[in-house]
Amino acid sequence: MSVYLALTINVVLFSIFPLFLSSLTPVMRRIGFYSYLSIILVIGGVLGSLYSFQLTDNIYLSGGNLAYGSFMMSAVMLFIMERKVLIFNYLIKLLIFINLFVFLGFEFLLYTLENALVVNPFNVDAQLFDTSLGVLILGGVLIATEFLILMFIFIKTKHAIKSPKYLMVLYSVAFVFVICLDGILFPVIVIGISPELVPIMISNLSGKFILALSFSVPLLVFYCLYRGNLNRFINTPMALSQVIFSSRVRLIAELGKQEKATKLLIEDNQKLINLSHYDHLTGLANRRKYDDYASELYAAGLESGEAITLVLGDVDHFKKYNDFYGHQTGDKCLQRVAEFWKTLLPEEKCLAARIGGEEFAVIIANRNIEQVLPRLELDIQRLTELAIPHETSPTRSFVTMSIGVASMHPHKKLQFEQLFELADKALYQAKSSGRNCIVTFS
Ligand code: GH3
Ligand code: MG
Ligand code: MG
Repeated sequence: MSVYLALTINVVLFSIFPLFLSSLTPVMRRIGFYSYLSIILVIGGVLGSLYSFQLTDNIYLSGGNLAYGSFMMSAVMLFIMERKVLIFNYLIKLLIFINLFVFLGFEFLLYTLENALVVNPFNVDAQLFDTSLGVLILGGVLIATEFLILMFIFIKTKHAIKSPKYLMVLYSVAFVFVICLDGILFPVIVIGISPELVPIMISNLSGKFILALSFSVPLLVFYCLYRGNLNRFINTPMALSQVIFSSRVRLIAELGKQEKATKLLIEDNQKLINLSHYDHLTGLANRRKYDDYASELYAAGLESGEAITLVLGDVDHFKKYNDFYGHQTGDKCLQRVAEFWKTLLPEEKCLAARIGGEEFAVIIANRNIEQVLPRLELDIQRLTELAIPHETSPTRSFVTMSIGVASMHPHKKLQFEQLFELADKALYQAKSSGRNCIVTFS
């Protein structure tokens, strides 16, 4: 087997898993990719010392190089699949965590092997696990920087070029460029500017170029296999600034979400309160709210000794209205009457309610009949002015109401019920004395 064939098989082995992982469901894909990236980082630490492919006299590609190429390729695939710049932050955390694990784990292995604290049946050379924290950190920083550059190019070019075909080529060129950049930066930083730098850099760069070309093939396969994902990636708006502000952005988004949820909850509660306290046809307080208000006011009146006045109103001949105009028009009529009812005694502390089908009430605090009657008579006039036609009413040709008013001073031995009975009696009298009038009792 030639070296090139062995290298190709190695590249295929390093590409087959990320290509397969891309086909999984989002959750499994995420688990798979982050696990694969972690494994690659760990084994990359030893593969560099284990084997190298000698391609020419001075071009070598080590197992570590291949692991690095596979890491970059997989990170690109993950970026395309996830369509989020935030994966950069996750990759940084992964790099820190795994490199720390590699450093501590390998140092421990080195120590135990060198000091023969464990049995070493295959006589593995302890030097295999000799890591340098500096190189690990440098490697991590370079990977992160290169990936950031790649993200930048990917995002910027997809704004300018919308055609997936051209982008595939451009992304491949960018991938080769960034890996080659590593070929320059790594020796420059490790060796520094010196006479030995140039030949090392040239051989390193050539190796990285071959590496980049090798992994851009599975990347092209990926773009073709997952064309739909690539299209979605192209059409998803992204901003690199999110990388820097991501924590804040996430925090703000989280806060926003919670605020929204709380608001919805409050709104729902309010809706529930409204449902249980207000009549849905007319928007007036319902019987329940009226009862609550009546007991509250009665209790307050017991203490203050102030009077309470109750106004009851009943639409005259409403059955006839319904029969003639239909139930739906009847509803509309009730709504108009309710709107009018809401405007009664605007200056008073009171509650207007719908307490039955076509029966309405106003409970007024701290007032007796004499104090409210003049204003009430004026206000009731407005129903006449509304002149809602009622052709079949024996009373008038428009909708009228009969009103019963009563007032009392709350007393321990009495209840609000007594006030209601009085007002109801007054209303009954209004009905029997020709309707469309106000009768008072006190
Ligand atoms: P009166 O002058 O003696 O009060 O006669 P009336 O016809 O108004 O009184 P009655 O109690 O005989 O009839 C009330 C009618 O109100 C009967 C019922 O169909 C109607 N009604 C009650 N609730 C509603 C409602 O929500 N919508 C409609 N359209 N009609 C209602
Ligand atoms: Mg009635
Ligand atoms: Mg009626």
